[in-house]
Amino acid sequence: MRDTMHTHVEQIFTFIDQESNYIENEASATYLEGVVYALELWLNEKKVPSVRDADKEEVRKAIQLAILKGMKKSVQVNHQMTPDAIGLLVSYFVKEMTKDRKELSILDPALGTGNLLFTIMNALPTENYAFGVEIDELLIQLAAQTGELLTHDVQLFRQDALKPLLIDPVDIVVSDLPVGYYPDSETSQDYFLHSTEEMSYAHHLFMEQSMKHVKPGGYLFFLVPDTIFESKQAPKLHEFIKENGWIQAVIQFPTSIFKTKGQEKSLLILQKKSSDLKAPREVLLAKVPNMMNKESMELFLKKVEIWQEENTK
Ligand code: SAM
Repeated sequence: MRDTMHTHVEQIFTFIDQESNYIENEASATYLEGVVYALELWLNEKKVPSVRDADKEEVRKAIQLAILKGMKKSVQVNHQMTPDAIGLLVSYFVKEMTKDRKELSILDPALGTGNLLFTIMNALPTENYAFGVEIDELLIQLAAQTGELLTHDVQLFRQDALKPLLIDPVDIVVSDLPVGYYPDSETSQDYFLHSTEEMSYAHHLFMEQSMKHVKPGGYLFFLVPDTIFESKQAPKLHEFIKENGWIQAVIQFPTSIFKTKGQEKSLLILQKKSSDLKAPREVLLAKVPNMMNKESMELFLKKVEIWQEENTK
């Protein structure tokens, strides 16, 4: 027998898929534009999925499936949505490390479709509100619609996130950073992490911008390339982190999650320095086991729990 979650997700997906296919075939638009159209119909209650009592995770998953289908047809590597396996693990760390908080403000400066941010917002037991920045018009539209359907408190900004942001410092930053060179050399001059020898790394500049927009003592959860500390521009990044924050954890994901070799990412958790706080006793360096293996996964989560307990003593 199929479980209700499965059928709810399927029913919502089918609704979005039908409308998106219709737009793709009839209006010479892309499937992803069709998804925007379908979500618009739903928001305006012109047409709605047959299921009315779906929960937030079911809605998020169904929209995610439709976006994934659209992205398979055409999308650049750097625009890819954060996969669920990663989003769920990041949520776990966010929850563990913010247990003592009643309310959280969150910033994702590379919001994309919002899938990562909404996975985290759905998982948090606390009251939370968020800010998202994204340069791509279609992606931010999808994120805005999803946020509205999930009734999350989000404020979105369509702009280059490395230009000045009108956002007050938040409690935490979560972001799957765009990786590669940042072409605007004039804007990069404003950053300590700009390179004097070649084009600056966008992911480094995003880290500096995020550090600026988090409160002292706040955490930053970044998905970064596995090789981040081995690049030519890494020494300056080390210097920046040492000056402004503390590395809390570096967690490597299993390579099986990533479709293409060379695209492997790790979760880097930083904390912005604060005069009231001490540096962590121990940096957590861990490798996530194969997520299908229940026993190794439980062992891994136990290790994280112990580390977190020791760390907060
Ligand atoms: N977490 C997102 C999700 O679940 O859909 C995926 C983020 S994706 C890896 C990185 C995003 O950064 C892309 O959507 C890309 O358009 C955006 N981006 C790249 N450069 C940017 C910039 N300078 N300012 C704002 N957004 C940018």
